[in-house]
Amino acid sequence: MAALTLGACFPLPGPGDQAFDIRCPVNGTVSFSDDWHAARSGGTLHEGNDVFSARWTPNVAVVDGRIVQRTGTRSGTAVWLYGDDGHDYFYAHFQAWEGVNRTVQAGDVIGYTGNSGDASGTATHTHFEIHPNGGAAVNPYASLSAACTNRKTTGVSSASSTEVGTERE
Ligand SMILES: [Zn+2]
Repeated sequence: MAALTLGACFPLPGPGDQAFDIRCPVNGTVSFSDDWHAARSGGTLHEGNDVFSARWTPNVAVVDGRIVQRTGTRSGTAVWLYGDDGHDYFYAHFQAWEGVNRTVQAGDVIGYTGNSGDASGTATHTHFEIHPNGGAAVNPYASLSAACTNRKTTGVSSASSTEVGTERE
């Protein structure tokens, strides 16, 4: 239960954030950077990282838990994953959900990459947040780097990388 051990610590802000024991949220070719707290319109700060992938790339539960689908003006077609590890995970800007609100296991497909909400007109991506113990968001970059760089690639299509950022509807 490594995730429980990690979650017992209060994470520090900034690039030194701990890596949570998660799967890569996007099951395909991705690109992302440490855009935590980048300035956003309206004077707000970016509360997650944007994981870019081709439209309709499957997004999966990063841990076991329970999902609740949400729709928001900014987040678009979104999902909260309430992890059995005690942490909450948020995915935004889906093209579509997969299935309904339910209990999921890590790796289950929960939606597909898009640019809904205020991501309309931008390159398709998943806005991903981690909320340790259900509290304020922390920088997910260390977790994403660990999970998406050295992951198992079973079932991943390799044909989707070249059109990221250029394809339009
Ligand atoms: Zn974002």
